[in-house]
Amino acid sequence: MELKADGDTLSAGGRTLRISIAPDIDATRTQMLREWITEAARASLSAYGRFPLEDATVRISEVVRRSDSPVPWGQTSRGRSVAVLLYVRKGAGLEELRADWTAVHELSHLFHPYLGDDGRWLAEGLASYYQNVLRARSGLLDEAEAWRRLDAGFGRGQREDSGLRLDELSPGRRGTMRVYWAGAAYWLEMDLTLRRAGSSLDDVLSRYSDCCLRGTGEVAPADFVARLDGIAGGTGFLDRFREYAASREFPSLDSSYAALGLARSTDGGLQFSDRTNAVALRRAIMRRR
Ligand SMILES: [Zn+2]
Repeated sequence: MELKADGDTLSAGGRTLRISIAPDIDATRTQMLREWITEAARASLSAYGRFPLEDATVRISEVVRRSDSPVPWGQTSRGRSVAVLLYVRKGAGLEELRADWTAVHELSHLFHPYLGDDGRWLAEGLASYYQNVLRARSGLLDEAEAWRRLDAGFGRGQREDSGLRLDELSPGRRGTMRVYWAGAAYWLEMDLTLRRAGSSLDDVLSRYSDCCLRGTGEVAPADFVARLDGIAGGTGFLDRFREYAASREFPSLDSSYAALGLARSTDGGLQFSDRTNAVALRRAIMRRR
């Protein structure tokens, strides 16, 4: 994969990502923010070597916040065109920005169409899964740390116990952690299923991007996953989607963790099996590329 930078336009595989940094930010800081977002864009290319959309924009502005987070807020805007909006805390330095997940999370939302309120768990789950996977692949996280962060996210999701169906929960109101991390567990499970069949989530999303992905307009979540089944040759995206959506508790991670050779120890830490096929599977997902 080759990322070309030409002024404020990044391109890879014939597709472009425009960078738009608020004009009130001075030149030195603009340069630093461009460096940061270019690295995040490169991480997003580690999914399948091209940007998901022909054309999208990342808009960066600064906000004054007393927040620990260097990027207190990000969102994807899907009006007539698609833009990822990132609000950076004024004064945040390059190293803390590099260590933050928000930019790669928001860029990962470009892999799926807008899925509406009922599909938020799918959308947030995909971005939460990939924010760790893609940063590991690009060297922003080491592999073990990426698994630990996924596991910590699953743990936060498991503590949500409202008993509501997953598709009744909504981020920002109640159940945010289960929305994000039960969603991530879905994509992890589907990735493992695909890998057993010699494919991968990257591969299926790449083909979805070529045939079907539009950055604007809404797609019903069941239609989206049914299309992924069509591309993958029927691997259970839709069946599992229905089970997850109706579930009132966090999905079981047992079979995913068994395949990956992951286990939680009694002190809450994560243990990694050195069984050959588990090591190979973990590496296939997180390996630097
Ligand atoms: Zn998100």
